[in-house]
Amino acid sequence: MDDPQHDNPSADNNLSAENIPSADLAAVLSGDLLCWSCKYDLTGLSVTGACPECGVPVRATLLAIVDPNASSFEPLKWPVLSALGLLMWSGAAFIAILVVAALRAGDAVVSLLGVNTNFLQFGVLIPIFAGLSGLGTIAFIRPHKAIRTSTTICSTVAALLYAPLVYLLWNLHARFDVVHGSPYFGDLLAVRERVEKRILIGLLILCIALLLRPAVRGFAARSVLMRTGQLTRQTLLAFAAAVVISLLGDILHYLSLQWPALESVALTTIWMAFVVIGSAMIAVGFGGMFWDSIRLYPVIRRKPRSLGEVIRKESISGSPETQSQ
Ligand SMILES: [Zn+2]
Repeated sequence: MDDPQHDNPSADNNLSAENIPSADLAAVLSGDLLCWSCKYDLTGLSVTGACPECGVPVRATLLAIVDPNASSFEPLKWPVLSALGLLMWSGAAFIAILVVAALRAGDAVVSLLGVNTNFLQFGVLIPIFAGLSGLGTIAFIRPHKAIRTSTTICSTVAALLYAPLVYLLWNLHARFDVVHGSPYFGDLLAVRERVEKRILIGLLILCIALLLRPAVRGFAARSVLMRTGQLTRQTLLAFAAAVVISLLGDILHYLSLQWPALESVALTTIWMAFVVIGSAMIAVGFGGMFWDSIRLYPVIRRKPRSLGEVIRKESISGSPETQSQ
């Protein structure tokens, strides 16, 4: 228990505790490290400091950028394309979902106002954006050479399932609805055919979501913040649950059309509630997934960095080589 600081007996106890991490206190950022919050160049600052521009502690930036498992990730073959693919997959799907929501909102407004117009011709945007989303899934098939074969197979099947999905979306939103008019105010026979199409589309989306899950999880795991749960993350499992809720509503609706004896205000309320709540959860969930892709973009574009890559130790005796930037 011998303390080396005998020349300063008054502060003996306090100093001995504070002297231990002195080696770490001299660690400075070695460059190419931008503030997580405002992108200010933090080169040369101490790891214990704060960003001079926005005041965010340097430690927060290190926590966000430095990955203790950096070396365990297989480098991506085409990091920029992978990041863009992830953005395109989630962004285009989110736009397609928003177009569906806007069309149904448009139906409601039109029927409320009793005007003789509709926006159903915009339904063609839905298969177009779904197709773009499908193109984005190519990024999931073989992003690096260490990817599991099962993940590659799942992603490939999911990408292929986009073909029937786009066809059905085009058939429903760009043809059927344009011919039959607003879907929830049409004749019964047409409604049944539409519900059948909706159920098929729902099943395809459910399969695609579950098949893409391993690849999407692999990308999310590259972010230390997402992996450790420090950023809340939308999961494809939650999205799949939302699709199931909406599907249950469609199936109940279909049964009530099949057996009119079942039709009642109660059942109609139930299937409508399932469809509306499920659809809202789908939109919110995929919005979150798009937001996650935006946050993942820089992580995927540039490989995760280890602590050793972003800091260097400087002797406390004040070496003259210290650069000031
Ligand atoms: Zn800053």
